[in-house]
Amino acid sequence: MSKTRIETKCVQGGYKPGNGEPRQIPIIQSTTFKYSTSEDMGKLFDLEASGYFYSRLQNPTCDTVAARICELEGGTAAMLTSSGQAANFFAVFNIASQGDHVVASSAIYGGTFNLFSVTMRRMGIEFTFVSPDATEDELRAAIKPNTKAVFGETIANPALTVLDIERFAKVAHEANVPLIIDNTFATPINCRPFEWGADIVTHSTTKYMDGHGSAVGGCIVDSGKFDWKAAGKFDCLCTPDESYHGVNYYERFGMAGAYITKATAQLMRDFGCTQSPQSAFILGLGLESLHVRMERHCQNGLAVAKFLSNHPKVTWVRYPGLEGDKYYDIARKYMPKGTCGVVSFGVKGGRAAAEKFMKNMKLGAIETHVADARTCCLHPASATHRQMNDEELVAAGVSPDLIRYSCGIESAEDLIEDLAQALETV
Ligand SMILES: *Cc1c(COP(=O)(O)O)cnc(C)c1O
Repeated sequence: MSKTRIETKCVQGGYKPGNGEPRQIPIIQSTTFKYSTSEDMGKLFDLEASGYFYSRLQNPTCDTVAARICELEGGTAAMLTSSGQAANFFAVFNIASQGDHVVASSAIYGGTFNLFSVTMRRMGIEFTFVSPDATEDELRAAIKPNTKAVFGETIANPALTVLDIERFAKVAHEANVPLIIDNTFATPINCRPFEWGADIVTHSTTKYMDGHGSAVGGCIVDSGKFDWKAAGKFDCLCTPDESYHGVNYYERFGMAGAYITKATAQLMRDFGCTQSPQSAFILGLGLESLHVRMERHCQNGLAVAKFLSNHPKVTWVRYPGLEGDKYYDIARKYMPKGTCGVVSFGVKGGRAAAEKFMKNMKLGAIETHVADARTCCLHPASATHRQMNDEELVAAGVSPDLIRYSCGIESAEDLIEDLAQALETV
């Protein structure tokens, strides 16, 4: 059996134990690895042999779980990071540095927006934010000679806009740069961006992939399809890295491996945003039920969105899986099996009513979290997006009255009863 289906990959991908070996992925809780000769170890340092020497760079548990996610996305190489923030930082910084420019959708996670617009700008990387609905011409107009990447989210958190991945990929490729897609909300169960032209995929594995609110983590996957050399813009991958024994990542590891090897050898070495083997193990457990959970998250999301859209105290509902939603058709195209469990809506009476409603919820807990087995909700304007001014909030698709409601995998009837009683109080 060479080609298994995605449900099987969730359960068995990345790990094939041999005779008498542990059935479950072993937690290799060791910072370091022993060798018989200095020569043996030297080969590892020179990237001439593959193996482990220090868990800041690579660890077998983390690599096994990364391999599972790599299979789910249909990539050629992947790495885990300590968080989704680290994944997005590495994904961009691996190919862009001082003096470079990146085009990003304005409808992205608040933490990513801040990373790009404040912290990475301080590192000398310029960002142009475009509407997630930008036309090809609008996208082309945002590209500059020093542009090194285009970035967006499949389903934006919390705006719930759906990106036209093919359109963004087309313009990125015309400009000889890769499209990086944060696929956290859709997960590879519902969308595999590589099949639509994306080149790099990132995840906050903290969300649906772990799925139980247990372990913060991130992942980067390379499609292996972007030709860094032919693009003519990525000396960082195609000329010797003097900081790493003069290795030329492209020549040594090819299109399939250059990007992730560089991110590991250079960025992980220097920044150390490593995921712990314990967290990777928890993530691996979460992945085993990802396909089962996503189906229920989507069923609950749709049931809740339908209920809210018929409620007199609700002013608007956004759920890309709901017929009539602005993104319904494009969501059907990219995510025919369903979108995610997150619904956003506004309550009559604006900010004050939203706060009262939140206080009266019993099952839905107020948390800075989404995509958990347990239902949770948040008022972004007073939490995750509080750094933004009103103009930036609107550009990010977050109105001041927006409530983000993340359906867990409980009974949809219970969630709806809870919403109904909390809405009674406003
Ligand atoms: C949560 C989130 C992140 C950041 O991930 P952390 O694991 O919290 O660092 C990035 N992108 C999206 C879409 C997210 O939802």
